[in-house]
Amino acid sequence: MPRTFLVTGSASGIGAATTAYLRDQGARVIGTDLRDADITADLATEHGRADLVEQARELTGGRLDGVIACAGVALFDPLTIKVNYFGAVATLEGLRPLLAAGTDPRAVVISSVASLHPNDPAIVDAALAGDEPAAVEAARAAVERGHGALVYGSSKAAIARWVRRTAITAEWAGAGIPLNAIAPGTIVTPMIQAMLDTPAGLAAIDGAVPMPLHGHARPEQIAPLLSWLVSPKNSHVTGQVVFVDGGADAVLRGDSAW
Ligand code: NAD
Repeated sequence: MPRTFLVTGSASGIGAATTAYLRDQGARVIGTDLRDADITADLATEHGRADLVEQARELTGGRLDGVIACAGVALFDPLTIKVNYFGAVATLEGLRPLLAAGTDPRAVVISSVASLHPNDPAIVDAALAGDEPAAVEAARAAVERGHGALVYGSSKAAIARWVRRTAITAEWAGAGIPLNAIAPGTIVTPMIQAMLDTPAGLAAIDGAVPMPLHGHARPEQIAPLLSWLVSPKNSHVTGQVVFVDGGADAVLRGDSAW
């Protein structure tokens, strides 16, 4: 029986590569995005989030074996916390009952090496408290202070911390559902192509995300890890943030993580 997955952000980059990889392996994949997807839904809005869950229930008969939450933006804008944190959490929480009805269910969301970069505690704390208006307001304030770059790192730190808190609860680990995040380094996708195309942008990215092993990655090189994390072979990895970053985490944090 082929496994059934739902992938958000399926129209581009890591989500598109992962959708193609899983389909090549014979899985059924329901792609979700703003456009060019089986389910079109805007994860920045309450309505879009509810619509995603409702349509997923209709398309699957209420059963999913895996969810991969890839949708994201990297803008100096409150939209970034809405999509990257609240959209991802709504996806995972909303689809959890479908996973609970699936076979060997698993879920994974995309954080980032940017989770290690400076962040704004006001944004992160409001997000983890589940207070979207406060998180959006804090993000707006950061942008107005000229610190818009903090919004992305804050969204990725918050989602990594949410995964660690949530994965070990009765609803996830207790229900037999591994929940993890991956933290990519620099992946060549439309999200960052414009920055990579300028010498100043390239230098800024490589300074912030040093990748001694093989340099920048293509999204096709991330898909197998996501595929493994949502496979039955993953029996005991949960609550982890798996860095797939050419060594950037080790360069940036050394052994201080312990
Ligand atoms: P991408 O821009 O190629 O793909 C992101 C997809 O998310 C797009 O198809 C977009 O339409 C969709 N999306 C954006 N807003 C949405 C919304 N409101 N509702 C539904 N879908 C929405 O980017 P990517 O690089 O493939 O990014 C995928 C994930 O990986 C993101 O969460 C990103 O933050 C993360 N990430 C990327 C990199 C990188 O270097 N590219 C590094 C670390 C983490």
